[in-house]
Amino acid sequence: MEAIEVTGLRKTYGGQDAVAGIDLVVARGEIFSLLGPNGAGKTTTVEILEGHRRRTAGDVRVLGEDPGTAGSAWRTRIGIVLQDADDAADLTVREMVRHIGGFYPEPRTADEVIELVGLSAKRNSKIRTLSGGQRRRVDVALGIVGRPELLFLDEPTTGFDPEARRQFWDLIRTLAADGTTIVLTTHYLDEAEALADRLAVVSAGRIVAEGTPTTLGGRGAAEARVSWTENGAVRVEQVADPSDLIRHLVASGADLSTLTITRPTLEDTYLNLIGATR
Ligand code: ATP
Repeated sequence: MEAIEVTGLRKTYGGQDAVAGIDLVVARGEIFSLLGPNGAGKTTTVEILEGHRRRTAGDVRVLGEDPGTAGSAWRTRIGIVLQDADDAADLTVREMVRHIGGFYPEPRTADEVIELVGLSAKRNSKIRTLSGGQRRRVDVALGIVGRPELLFLDEPTTGFDPEARRQFWDLIRTLAADGTTIVLTTHYLDEAEALADRLAVVSAGRIVAEGTPTTLGGRGAAEARVSWTENGAVRVEQVADPSDLIRHLVASGADLSTLTITRPTLEDTYLNLIGATR
């Protein structure tokens, strides 16, 4: 069974389509990333999948149930890290994690979760005294304490320092290796590239491209850009396979000290896709 199956999903606000017909399948155990500009319809889509928003039309199955009607047992199988969770609570990190864990049938222990999100040194600090990035880690801790089968992460690393982001990525990989399905919404393309098995780009309420980080939008088939210096001038050639060109340059004794071979980054591909659909 798939973790998520969506067909023809639509959501309108005041006659305007926020989601204009999305089809989506996320396999169990997959890390699936949704990309797209502000207002594209990502959060609306994800909130419908979480059962937090009603859809206008379409068929939605999440862990085999319709989130619009699923009950509390279904809810305990899902973990959610919202975009702007406000948890400036007077509780300590440990108290809060333990409290939320109490709502689930088989929670992870508070200490295990706190360790997983790298907050052990702050376990007895009140949440309101934490920095923004540390509070975000608490949000992640609360999302995973219930041992979810499916975890929704909406821009989870906003405000994280680079080291914390890397630690978070490791945590996500650990959870995925454990069999957790993960739906990740992010504006950080390096994050999507590092984590996602598959990704979809949403623009104006529709999926405009879907694939793996290496194949998305024809990226895998894109030409390589080869650049080197010849007689003091920079030369550039675009070729599908640079092998022959490199052999030729070596044979001709060209100066290869400045040689670079590049292909479009995920960001290049993404910006092209978005530009083409606006
Ligand atoms: P971001 O990257 O900024 O989080 P997003 O892709 O998550 O954007 P959504 O929040 O899903 O975008 O919004 C999609 C569209 O739906 C936007 O045009 C937004 O203004 C509109 N919208 C979202 N929620 C509501 C609402 N409650 N009432 C009316 N319009 C809404």
